[in-house]
Amino acid sequence: MNKLGEFKHKHSLGQNFLKDKNVLAKIIDSVDVKEDDLIIEVGPGQGALTKFLKLFHANLRCFEVDTRVEKYLKQFIDDKTKVVYNDFLKVDIEEEIKDIEYNDLYVIANLPYYITTPIIEKMINCNLDVKAMVLMVQNEVADRLSAKVGSKDYGAITVFLNYYFDVEKLFFVGRKCFDPAPNVDSAVIKLSKKEKKYELNNEEFFFKLIQDSFRMKRKNIRNNLKGYDLEKVLTILESYGLDLTCRAESIPLSCFVDIANELSK
Ligand code: SAM
Repeated sequence: MNKLGEFKHKHSLGQNFLKDKNVLAKIIDSVDVKEDDLIIEVGPGQGALTKFLKLFHANLRCFEVDTRVEKYLKQFIDDKTKVVYNDFLKVDIEEEIKDIEYNDLYVIANLPYYITTPIIEKMINCNLDVKAMVLMVQNEVADRLSAKVGSKDYGAITVFLNYYFDVEKLFFVGRKCFDPAPNVDSAVIKLSKKEKKYELNNEEFFFKLIQDSFRMKRKNIRNNLKGYDLEKVLTILESYGLDLTCRAESIPLSCFVDIANELSK
C-alpha cells in the first residue's frame, strides 16, 4: 500500500490483475463445474477471477501468498470458500482440502508466471485426481505446452504434460487486459485429464528418456540417446516411419512410450 492507500502491485509476485470481464467470462464458460465439485484457485489477488468462480457455487480453496489482499478477499469467504494465505508451493494441498467432500477437482487460475511450471508439476505430483486445469499463462508457454509434434515449440515439457492431460490452447489474451499491463502477452490453456493414460513399465525411465532425447535441441536422436540401446530405439522409430537421424521434436508421445517400454522390459 502506498501513502494514498492505493495497492502497490508487486512485480516479483507476478501481480498483474485481470481487468477484462470478457476474458473472465470466457474462462468460466470453458469448464462445467458443479456445486459439489472443488475448485482450487492459485493466486486470487484482489479477487477478479474469484468473483466469477463463485458463480459456480462450488467448494473453493484459494491460495494467496500476499496477505495485503485480505481486505479485498474477505467478502468472498463463506462456508464453501476459504483463502489460505501461504506460498502455494509450500502448502500441503491434501491436508488443506481433507475436510471437503467433493466430486470433481478443478484448478482454475490466472497464474503468477514466475512459477507456472512448478505449480503445474505440484498438481501432477500430488496424489489428487484433477479433472481439468484452466490456466492463464504466458502466451509463449501456452504455445509450448500445447505444441503439436513436429513444431518448433514441441519439447520435453510438451511430451511430459501430454502424458497426463489433453492440452488445448483456448484463447489469446493481450497484455492490455491486465492491470498493470505485463510486458508479455498471455493465453488461457485447458488441461483435461486423459481418459486413458498410456501404460508405462517404468515412469521414471520414461521421464529420463524424454529429458535425454531433448537435451541438445539441434542434435538428432542418435546423438542425444548415445548411452541407450540404439538398435532397439531404431526398431521402434522405424515402426513410426522414423530413424535415428530424426530429432526429438518429430517423435510423438506414443512413440516415446513404446521406446521407453521396449528399453525397460
Ligand atoms: N487472480 C488474480 C487476477 O486474476 O486478477 C491475480 C492474478 S496475478 C497474475 C497472480 C497472483 O498470484 C497474485 O495475487 C500473487 O500475489 C499471487 N502469488 C504469487 N506467488 C504466489 C505463491 N507462491 N503462492 C500463492 N500465490 C502467489
